[in-house]
Amino acid sequence: MIVEIVSTGTELLLGQIVNTSAPYLARRLNELGFSVLFQSTVGDNRERMSQVIAHALERSDIVITSGGLGPTLGDITKEVAATLLNRTMYLDKHSEDRIRQMFAARHICMTDNNLRQAMIPEGGIVLDNQCGTAPGVVLETEDGKIIIHLPGPPFELEAMFEDAVEPYLRQRYGLQGVIVSRVLRTFGLGESLLEERIHDHLLQQGNPTIALLARSGEIHVRITAQGKDAAAANRLIATKEAQLRERLDEYIFSTDDESLETLVGRLLQEKKLTLALAESCTGGLVTSRVTDVSGSSAYLMGAVVCYDNRIKADVVGVNPRTLETEGAVSEPVACQMAEGIRSRLKTQMGIGITGIAGPDGGSPEKPVGLVFIAVAGPAGVQCHRHYFSGGRDSIKKRTAQTALHHLRRYLLALPAGE
Ligand code: ATP
Ligand code: MG
Repeated sequence: MIVEIVSTGTELLLGQIVNTSAPYLARRLNELGFSVLFQSTVGDNRERMSQVIAHALERSDIVITSGGLGPTLGDITKEVAATLLNRTMYLDKHSEDRIRQMFAARHICMTDNNLRQAMIPEGGIVLDNQCGTAPGVVLETEDGKIIIHLPGPPFELEAMFEDAVEPYLRQRYGLQGVIVSRVLRTFGLGESLLEERIHDHLLQQGNPTIALLARSGEIHVRITAQGKDAAAANRLIATKEAQLRERLDEYIFSTDDESLETLVGRLLQEKKLTLALAESCTGGLVTSRVTDVSGSSAYLMGAVVCYDNRIKADVVGVNPRTLETEGAVSEPVACQMAEGIRSRLKTQMGIGITGIAGPDGGSPEKPVGLVFIAVAGPAGVQCHRHYFSGGRDSIKKRTAQTALHHLRRYLLALPAGE
């Protein structure tokens, strides 16, 4: 079955919002085995929207629209499709009641235009909106094509897809089986080197399939399998995972969505170690991530954002002479930051981060993206130099991610009981 996703909304065309719904729908539909062959975007204009939907219905079996189901005059998607398919609209009592109840529950006075949302094309199946007021609609055309209207706000669209659209499509097309994915998160091996190591597996795609995704300094290997039930799909994944682990084991640090800060937190607790940080170019980002884990107060003692040299020296304990001779962005300064914060905050582990996040402040010897990350602890101090590319935001994020990886590796290498 060929699917076309039609995103509606002038905001999308003006570049004021990023289209997150089309990729979401494409991913979910592909997982279900549909071929998403077209995606279009059109503004809130009757004539052009009508053309786009008509074209989509010519070349695709299923057309899924997003947006334009709301109460305002600019929300026209259902009407445009109904006019195109010669369907009249009627006020759906069930949807009207739901909308009235929702307003009453929030103690807000309902204006009449809200009832526009309860207008449904003749023959349409109503999809209740669990997270908002505008219902969705499934409409089958005379020649067996299907148009599905979903609301614009992403959380409403996603909830409606999971609750109503997927079950509908499964039943309508007799889809059987399930698709399960598992992600192996790797760090420390570049994308092309990793690709080389598992080249044969990447070529021999079948069931399961393997995909590589680059994510802020990590490479994720996603294994996706189809089976008659979850257990069958998981068995296929386990076999493939074991084969991949033979080649990549030392680089795989986690599977699925377990965050790096959770892993690091667990290691610190297991080894009964406490942590302090001195962050310059990351402005506290690493500390923020460490504190994303509930219970992190057990091992995180504190941190200093030492932007100015005076703070690096007075508060963290970096030698002013080193700052003068080596410059703030240097290996000795990163090391003294890690050791200084560790000693001043009386922790076993210390991290020091200094770098040039850009876009200004770079020089030929010290370009934008140059970062030093030092980890100090019972096994001494280790410093890593990196040259990151990208904008300020991405350099900061990659630095934070990489710092957590270096901390993790340091902790793993410590002998037990230290
Ligand atoms: P509402 O009742 O909120 O008006 P609607 O179904 O009419 O919902 P739109 O008016 O088209 O939907 O969009 C509402 C909001 O949802 C947009 O302002 C935007 O923030 C978000 N949105 C719409 N489409 C997308 C999309 N494709 N990707 C991401 N966000 C979107
Ligand atoms: Mg709207």
